[in-house]
Amino acid sequence: MSKIIVITSGKGGVGKTTTAINLGAAINYLGGDVLIIDGNLSTPNIGVHLNSPEVPVNLNHVLSNEAEVLEAVYEHASGMKIMPASLSIKDSKKAKPGKIKDFRKEFKKISDYIIVDCAAGLGDEAMSAISAADELIIVTNPEMPAITDALKTIKTAELEKKPIVGVIVTRVKKNQIELQPSTVKEMLEIPILGMIPEDISISKALNEKDAVVHVYPKSGAARAYKEIASKITGIPYNSDIDRESIFERIARAFRRN
Ligand code: ADP
Ligand code: MG
Repeated sequence: MSKIIVITSGKGGVGKTTTAINLGAAINYLGGDVLIIDGNLSTPNIGVHLNSPEVPVNLNHVLSNEAEVLEAVYEHASGMKIMPASLSIKDSKKAKPGKIKDFRKEFKKISDYIIVDCAAGLGDEAMSAISAADELIIVTNPEMPAITDALKTIKTAELEKKPIVGVIVTRVKKNQIELQPSTVKEMLEIPILGMIPEDISISKALNEKDAVVHVYPKSGAARAYKEIASKITGIPYNSDIDRESIFERIARAFRRN
């Protein structure tokens, strides 16, 4: 029943960490049981995004058998669980990402949905996270370099026989210059799970050290992540309940000035 979903991309900086956190937050919002693991051991960000940069026990301790899996699990105020990785350069150098797959069974005992944030590229670190996956979600921007790298990741996943749930296209500006959804679908030949708009609320949430789904639940990005979470879990979500009233929209416009 429990499954490990690895968020991967190929290209860096496309929105994997943002997606891992907000997809996790959105599944938790819908009532799903979630653990987010920071599988990006060289440059971990999950703890920083969620206001717990330094924790006494983390994924690095688990991988080096210095701690039990449960000791590295922390509960966020929202109820979702997180497992940060170490920010120390010394720990990152010592880390053994290849060990992640050895803990699959134990991770799966903790939550129903285990979301793993992944390093960019297709080096050892990313491949270790991919090898621990039950399913993959590909994140890309609607731009040619990101799509090219996503395609390479998709082909690699196929060789590894890892099922791909679909692609999340982030930072969508809805202009004529970026690649259109039909082109993205045609090039990647996998279903589009959802499109996340370019949204200032994402930067604001980062500033507030929380998920956009938590601090700006009615933003376009938060609603899009909740729609994707609903698709993945099968738990219904009606985005109309998160639609801003005209008064809220005016108030937001004033706050921006
Ligand atoms: P990755 O993990 O793939 O390197 P991040 O999630 O760290 O990517 O995102 C890279 C940058 O893009 C961050 O500064 C993040 O705040 C920003 N970002 C991600 N998604 C969006 C979005 N939908 N709208 C605006 N900015 C975004
Ligand atoms: Mg990242």
